[in-house]
Amino acid sequence: MNFDLTDEQKRWRDLAYDYAQGEIRPRAAQLDREQKFPYDIVAEMARLGLMGLTLPREYGGSGGDFVAYNLALEEISRADTSVGITMEAHISLGCAPLATYGTREQKERFLSRCATGGRLWAFGLTEEEAGTDAGGTRTTAELVDGEWNINGTKKWITNSGTDITAGVTAIARTGERENGGPELSALIIPQETPGYTRGPGYEKTGWRASDQRPLYFENCRVPEENLLGERGRGFAQFLQTLDAGRVAVASLSVGLAQACLDEALRRAGERRQFGRAISEFQAIQFKLADMAMEVELARNTVLKAAWLKDRGRPFGREASMAKVFASESAKRAADQAVQIHGGEGFMETSAVARYWRQVKINEIGEGTSEINRQIIARSLLQEGPETVKTKMAAQ
Ligand SMILES: Cc1cc2nc3c(=O)[nH]c(=O)nc-3n(C[C@H](O)[C@H](O)[C@H](O)COP(=O)(O)OP(=O)(O)OC[C@H]3O[C@@H](n4cnc5c(N)ncnc54)[C@H](O)[C@@H]3O)c2cc1C
Repeated sequence: MNFDLTDEQKRWRDLAYDYAQGEIRPRAAQLDREQKFPYDIVAEMARLGLMGLTLPREYGGSGGDFVAYNLALEEISRADTSVGITMEAHISLGCAPLATYGTREQKERFLSRCATGGRLWAFGLTEEEAGTDAGGTRTTAELVDGEWNINGTKKWITNSGTDITAGVTAIARTGERENGGPELSALIIPQETPGYTRGPGYEKTGWRASDQRPLYFENCRVPEENLLGERGRGFAQFLQTLDAGRVAVASLSVGLAQACLDEALRRAGERRQFGRAISEFQAIQFKLADMAMEVELARNTVLKAAWLKDRGRPFGREASMAKVFASESAKRAADQAVQIHGGEGFMETSAVARYWRQVKINEIGEGTSEINRQIIARSLLQEGPETVKTKMAAQ
């Protein structure tokens, strides 16, 4: 088994580390406090190639592999998860479906505007009645005279309302299946389309310097050729999109867990009680050891899922495992980091208080822990005990 990274993967990780520690981390507290979208940071990340890391070179992307992207995303998120989610939602949710399912013409028209990250693209699935149950989608798209007429509302859509957003891919109900279920399809909707508007950003507990909005479609018309992929394949497309997105949110979680460990190690060495550094107490040492073990295990789980995807092998179960384990490890790490800081960790002036607020969303976004556990269990039960055993051993 070879755990070595390629030179290219190391280059992306180190580039992200240097930029994130030098330019993002020192500003993370202020960005969070002011809840302002960091346009200059996103522009510089686009210039460095980070905002288009996995996207095809022929459309302006950086052409990196999925492992490299996850390594870079971990480093960006270690400095600030608001910037991390901006990068993740743009690449994994916004642009990856355009790159995977788009026709050449769609890629030339839409992906080429965004693949550098100079402009952003969003992905709109969630609605009031359609959270975990995406089949509850109420937004409709009716084909009238060669155009899709779209009506409905989306909520919490990341990167949808920045000054540099170029559009959204929205999931809409385009008909009914024979079994009475909804026929869902994906539609490309440029930002300036008449009938498409966005509401104000939300007051959030974390990811406060990232952009999420409600979207409103009122007789919003786009040409028939703005259908992304096949009609009625929207459900399958977003399931695949979310598989990759889950690995990326897991990387974001590993980055945050690592940041908690960084701060906890610093504080444990500096803080003195009973005449010695608190790092000399075994109770504190065990907390640090537990945090480090979980960070290491979570990172390995994420990288295995990313490695499987890079090889074109199934990775859905591993993606869900990585998402659950990394997000829950990050939550435990944030909790212990605050504990090691004592009362200081409860002050908004300390980084770990911010991490503690921010960490919760990782267990919710792009599939909750409950739904990911269901995915893992369903795949185990489908395969049965013998297959699972051989597969785990052989993979
Ligand atoms: C900051 C932020 C950014 C987001 N960005 C985007 C985005 O860019 N694009 C987008 O489309 N969406 C986005 N979302 C939406 C996000 O993906 C959803 O919040 C998430 O999928 C969960 O849906 P929900 O919040 O409606 O929870 P609900 O579906 O209401 O779930 C509530 C609880 O019930 C549980 N539950 C639900 N069904 C089951 C079941 N069958 N079995 C067991 N438990 C169940 C859940 O696990 C959860 O604990 C974002 C959300 C947030 C908060």
